[in-house]
Amino acid sequence: MKILVPVKRVIDYNVKPRVKADGSGVDLANVKMSMNPFDEIAVEEAIRLKEAGKAEEIIAVSIGPAKAQETLRTALAMGADRAILVETDDAVEPLAVAKILKAIAAEEEPGLVMLGKQAIDDDSNQTGQMLAALMGRPQGTFANTVEVDGDSVTVKREVDGGLQTVKLTLPAIVTTDLRLNEPRYASLPNIMKAKKKPLETKSPADYGVDTALRLTTTNVSEPPVRQAGEKVEDVDALVAKIKALGIA
Ligand code: AMP
Repeated sequence: MKILVPVKRVIDYNVKPRVKADGSGVDLANVKMSMNPFDEIAVEEAIRLKEAGKAEEIIAVSIGPAKAQETLRTALAMGADRAILVETDDAVEPLAVAKILKAIAAEEEPGLVMLGKQAIDDDSNQTGQMLAALMGRPQGTFANTVEVDGDSVTVKREVDGGLQTVKLTLPAIVTTDLRLNEPRYASLPNIMKAKKKPLETKSPADYGVDTALRLTTTNVSEPPVRQAGEKVEDVDALVAKIKALGIA
């Protein structure tokens, strides 16, 4: 079985985003970019499935600018076997990403497509679900545990108030949640080896996908600045303050 792992290049999760002065978006000039954290979890899970003898090949895919090659090299250094960069400098919405992934899946015929549950830049949480719908395949989203057995995959899903277990017939779509695993760091020898692994470059047009935007971002703004707190002497003073605020 092949596993297809889409990995997105996003603003590093440690960076505090700065909103552009004109409110048109987040300023990405000279900002550290990394693999979307949920996608690292997806790469790790795919590697573990391969190590357990449940998969033969892991293909990492990224849709984005030429620099997304770095993200793919990271996936290759972690343990993916080969990579496909679908190069575009334009912003690509989840629907277009899902259409491109559908076309790649039609060529590669993976048993599993393992995506992150959401990209931390747009927070859409849409691509996996759209891909499952476009491909007419079952989906196990927000995976906390993934077990492949024969022609099915059992996914424990993180839902409000607990875990839900679903059994899907392969081929299937899985999206990863935070507690699925702890991704490994790539070792230096593996980083060197990754430079020699195959990386193919394509364009959205190669897959017949029109990436024109369907959404317009009208404004992006900083969250309101938190007000400073106040220390009170004792519980009575605290209760009096809360009463004065009219919230108790
Ligand atoms: P989203 O629906 O944008 O929150 O993204 C969910 C998941 O879809 C991500 O965690 C990635 O696995 C995948 N994905 C979204 N956009 C891209 C992209 N441009 N390239 C590769 N994978 C992507």
